[in-house]
Amino acid sequence: STTPVKVAVTGAAGQIGYSLLFRIANGDLLGPDVPVQLQLLEITPALKALEGVVMELDDCAFPTLAGVEIGDDPTKIFDGANLALLVGARPRGPGMERGDLLEANGAIFTAQGKALNEVAADDVRIGVTGNPANTNALIAMHNAPDIPQSRFSALTRLDHNRAISQLAAKTGATVREIKKMTIWGNHSATQYPDLFHAEVGGKNAAELVNDQAWLENDFIPTVAKRGAAIIDARGSSSAASAASATIDAARDWLKGTPEGDWVSMAVVSDGSYDIPEGLIYSYPVTTSGGDWEIVQGLEIDDFSRAKMDATAAELVEERDAVKGLGLI
Ligand code: NDP
Repeated sequence: STTPVKVAVTGAAGQIGYSLLFRIANGDLLGPDVPVQLQLLEITPALKALEGVVMELDDCAFPTLAGVEIGDDPTKIFDGANLALLVGARPRGPGMERGDLLEANGAIFTAQGKALNEVAADDVRIGVTGNPANTNALIAMHNAPDIPQSRFSALTRLDHNRAISQLAAKTGATVREIKKMTIWGNHSATQYPDLFHAEVGGKNAAELVNDQAWLENDFIPTVAKRGAAIIDARGSSSAASAASATIDAARDWLKGTPEGDWVSMAVVSDGSYDIPEGLIYSYPVTTSGGDWEIVQGLEIDDFSRAKMDATAAELVEERDAVKGLGLI
């Protein structure tokens, strides 16, 4: 079809936006034959910087880029959006308490949820990258009562990709040989990257590695603390890989997961695996036709159970905090 797909991106003048927009415009998300219209949201003081980014987008002369619109009003920018990537969020400033952070982001994601509810396309899918991603998605979802809850997800794909990369390095396998990786829970230090169901060249990853000490003391903390390690090394945050994961997540959601594999996505819990219903919790999911389904029937041992429950407990705390603030 020649009707452009409308992709809204928030925080578009930020670091992640600077990698993300060019990839989307280049067709990395929807393919080389699908025209894309970018609708970019920023806070008012960042609009001038965003104009500079748009000049660069123009200068790339991407054949797939049908148009770009920018602004600071979500009810204009989300108008007709088929996909909304919520990247912009309020970072923790000096002296800011956790409650202040939740409140600042609460205001942003309440307003954005309401605007999406009002003006987005009927088929809208919403992916949240801005942190705290799971809880920001929860707030937006609760403020968009007319949008099916299954249309909201938070990004754990970067953690998923990091886990694949670590496992490939450990086993000498290629990334392509690794399937069925799972990140459970929150996109935070409590996340649980699970090797017990992952496969390397068709073999069970945990059995192949056969090293519980590496799994507990090396693999899990390396994946969970990778963002900090990159800030340490690079002097700024892992924006390019976050952008790449944002694209992977949206592409696989819309286009489907391959037979024999799955991806990690934080989606609204239906109580699967005894996780409290209603949390935005990362699960192994398969996707088809723009819908996801939680992979069922995986055996969970005591080690995994404890980790899955700990990250759920953190999400319950965050949910209760935003409930206490009246945001959901
Ligand atoms: P980035 O573009 O680097 O990051 C944006 C968000 O993504 C942050 O919440 C960040 O979390 C999160 N994130 C998730 N995964 C990663 C990762 N692996 N590495 C880095 N970040 C990750 O932030 P900038 O400050 O450069 O840009 C944010 C932009 O958002 C600004 O231009 C600001 O003006 C805008 N903004 C827009 C809003 C809006 O459109 N209404 C509202 C608020 C801000 P973390 O903080 O934990 O690093």
